[in-house]
Amino acid sequence: MNLIEKELRVKLAAAHHIVHYHGWDDLLATHLSVRIPDTEMLLITPLNVPFEEVCASNLIKTDLNGNIIGDNGYTVMLQATNIHAAIYRKSNTIQSAMHTHSTYGVAVSALSCGLLFFNQQSLRFYDDVAYHDFNGLALENEGDEIVESLKHKKVMVLRNHGLLTTGKSLEEALYLLYYLEKVCELQIKTLSTGQKLIEIPDKLCAKTKAQFDKILSPYKEFETLVRRIKGKSRVNFND
Ligand SMILES: [Zn+2]
Repeated sequence: MNLIEKELRVKLAAAHHIVHYHGWDDLLATHLSVRIPDTEMLLITPLNVPFEEVCASNLIKTDLNGNIIGDNGYTVMLQATNIHAAIYRKSNTIQSAMHTHSTYGVAVSALSCGLLFFNQQSLRFYDDVAYHDFNGLALENEGDEIVESLKHKKVMVLRNHGLLTTGKSLEEALYLLYYLEKVCELQIKTLSTGQKLIEIPDKLCAKTKAQFDKILSPYKEFETLVRRIKGKSRVNFND
């Protein structure tokens, strides 16, 4: 295993612990992945391992058709490789993808209005959210259909299901997940007041989104999130 893969394994394992720390993980049914640069291989969540027990060595390596490479005693969920391998097959620019069934993410996914843009945080995603209609469990060709729906957007609301973020790096996919989860929580809590929302004009939404794009700093955010979870996990994600 080369140094790049070793470092990616540690980062992806840390991302699982960050997702768990914030309470966005499901029991065993969601998955995070990263492409090994310049290869047709990816690293992904092992099957039947809760996020808080994921570490560098139990992550699964597969090719872009979902075939497991090597044997570390673990396997992978079919839905996971169906979705993630399809993403990397279709896009050379996407290097990481993260999928959650978080409480607020699923709640927003079931709203016909989708993600609303009524606070500053949400404008990171203005005109950058794709939607994919629910079609049962992703056991067959759902991955290819999800990629079709994604087009060139960075994040997706899987209707009646959950959230998906992608990035040109693992850090970017996690940065987007952090804020998408935050915005979904804000939306549900704000709507639950039953009060009228103050709308932000489209022009101002577009201006703020462009400002966010200019100051995007997923690497600093990633370092901060790793510092936040240091010493809090019972399993060392570096192992
Ligand atoms: Zn799912």
